[in-house]
Amino acid sequence: MQSGWRVGSLFGIPLFIDLSWVLILTLFMLHNGWVWRGRYPEWGVETAWLTGFLSTLLLFASVLLHELAHSLVAKAHGIEEIAISLFLFGGSTSAEEALKRPSQILQVAIAGPAVSLGLAAGLSLLTLVLPHTASPLKVLTANLATMNWVVALFNLIPGLPLDGGQILKAIIWQWTGDQLWAIRLSAKVGELLGGLAISFGIADILNLPGVPFSQFFDGWWMALLGWFGWQSARAYQPITELQEALLKTLAAAAMTGEFRIVPVEMSLANFAREYLTKLEPPMYLATQGDRYQGIVVPEGLNEIERSQWEHESIEGILHPDSARAATHTTANLAQVIQLMEAYQLIQIPVLSPAGALLGVIDRGDIVRILAHKLNIRISDSMIQQIKADGIYPPGFRLSAIAQTLET
Ligand SMILES: [Zn+2]
Repeated sequence: MQSGWRVGSLFGIPLFIDLSWVLILTLFMLHNGWVWRGRYPEWGVETAWLTGFLSTLLLFASVLLHELAHSLVAKAHGIEEIAISLFLFGGSTSAEEALKRPSQILQVAIAGPAVSLGLAAGLSLLTLVLPHTASPLKVLTANLATMNWVVALFNLIPGLPLDGGQILKAIIWQWTGDQLWAIRLSAKVGELLGGLAISFGIADILNLPGVPFSQFFDGWWMALLGWFGWQSARAYQPITELQEALLKTLAAAAMTGEFRIVPVEMSLANFAREYLTKLEPPMYLATQGDRYQGIVVPEGLNEIERSQWEHESIEGILHPDSARAATHTTANLAQVIQLMEAYQLIQIPVLSPAGALLGVIDRGDIVRILAHKLNIRISDSMIQQIKADGIYPPGFRLSAIAQTLET
């Protein structure tokens, strides 16, 4: 989740703050100030409110330290595109998708709760050694210790999208070697726990008997937390379905014959005369016999003196990464997408195991077959538009999702 205002950055990591976070901090401040004003009349009104304000600033700092720990560990693993968002239920760090190894996910997930637990333990000790009077400092320290215990333990609940869910996912993935199964199971646990929280919350609101631990929570808050958890956990389902389709669909099923073969010996002059007069030139692929040689880059002609066109062949204008920027029929779509992004190609050639050219795939072909597999209706005109533009429409996060897969 990345919403709200960008308020700055820490260690080069952008920080976003949502309106809901400002609201929750304000409520927290009013609550503490109000309670302390009544409980400790000897402090005086100003001190009670000031302590409430300080407790809010320190809670903000605690949650920020928790998120910063996630981000810095992710950064240490080479993840560059991270951001911290603070919203209603605390924070989130957007590194989840970029991490490709269970051990990395585990380290990043543990870092946040570890910092919160450390803060909670340290502050609890400090509370114990402070003089046994209800001084603002002692009350503030005790309050902050409690809040850090809450942040740590809440985040360790073992269901996605919480840190505990990430830890569960990493452990299952490490154990079974099955990334998708690990995500599915941890998301299911998240859904189940969210559902339970909603039921407990509603039961508490209705004052039903037998609700466990009901003295420790507020029904409305519990139901809201549960609903948030349930929604977020369910959001994993369409993504895992897409991930599965990306892994199980092979290039052979997606490729088309939308290309023209030109012999690699052809002179640049002939190539320019015969092909470049076309209004919508297709993809030109050079072959020698039936062996694929490379992708022709017609723009390369501009780099070569016109007087040389008769003497030079199209070999001189092949894509420099041609040999590597080709896929084979048994590659899955996640690999195809990763390769297209890596070489910034609009289309990618598909070869047989023996190196013969069999077809090409573009982003429109990928969207078309995925839509078919996932029973999503996408109009033909949209597919044609994707083919023409060579980019996925806004909101299609295919390249980001393909990057999350270990292929
Ligand atoms: Zn966390």
